[in-house]
Amino acid sequence: MSSADKSNEMLEMFRRNFAAGRLAHAYVVQGSPSGEAWAFAVSALQLLFCEGLTKPCGECRECRKVVDRNHPDIRWLEPEKKSRTFDVDKQIRPMLRDLEMTSFQGGWKAVVIIEADRLNDSHANAILKSLEEPGQRRLWLLLTAHPDQLLTTIHSRCQRIVLTHSQNYFEGTWVAPLREWLLAPPQPAGIPALAGAAYLKQILETEKAAIAKKIREETADEEIEKEVFEARVRSGEIKIRAEILRYITLWRRDVLACASGAGTDVLHFAGDEQTLRSLAKQLGIPGALASLRAVQGLSRRVDRNVPDLLSFEAALLAG
Ligand SMILES: [Zn+2]
Repeated sequence: MSSADKSNEMLEMFRRNFAAGRLAHAYVVQGSPSGEAWAFAVSALQLLFCEGLTKPCGECRECRKVVDRNHPDIRWLEPEKKSRTFDVDKQIRPMLRDLEMTSFQGGWKAVVIIEADRLNDSHANAILKSLEEPGQRRLWLLLTAHPDQLLTTIHSRCQRIVLTHSQNYFEGTWVAPLREWLLAPPQPAGIPALAGAAYLKQILETEKAAIAKKIREETADEEIEKEVFEARVRSGEIKIRAEILRYITLWRRDVLACASGAGTDVLHFAGDEQTLRSLAKQLGIPGALASLRAVQGLSRRVDRNVPDLLSFEAALLAG
């Protein structure tokens, strides 16, 4: 099923629940917050506020205000640029106060949290009560491309709307080269595998340079200590390395699923099904299982901080 089909299906479900008065208070919308998750939020909110005959018409004054993000009964919260997180006093508390007030038009009031995975424990503490009992005609939409990074306390209080398969959760310049590398024909263990490890290492180095550049730009107007700067680069690097490993893990899980005769619907990378199936054929179940275990073991070792090249190399040789 394509991402667009999935969005339509989810929107239809939302529409039915809305018509039947059975909407949940809060939804986690899984997908890109600048892509399908954002589009879903707009359509869902237009449904709530639309004054047209066929809702959402997308053309009435209310629908336009939704898409322009200036509807008085909707609060959009985005992480602050510098800190990449939310501010309790400047963003969260005013939003909660607003949510408690009567709506401007006597109808719904809604909150959209963009990149909800950036919410930390103190944000969660501030919002949990409202998230649990927001009152009549209140709706929370929490958009995230990384549902696994969303706090459990928040996740457990929301219904889930899944718009994309996992491969679309990955964002960044590393995704394309990594995918290319995975799609390339498998190489025998040994020297070609070492070349592969170097290639992955290079992807990581490129990302590291990009992270450093971004932090320098963000902090251009302030003094930043060398240690602080390095710590931030390091933390960005660790995050990306974990993402790369997560990608490889899901990929190898797909290969194993294919080897076990699973259908397309369970695959994370359904778009690359043909390659996955041919890899599965070559490896068989034991081979696919061994290669998945190797990358899982690697993820655990990376948590314990084994140097990058060494760990990628190990994953490749075992894969
Ligand atoms: Zn409308």
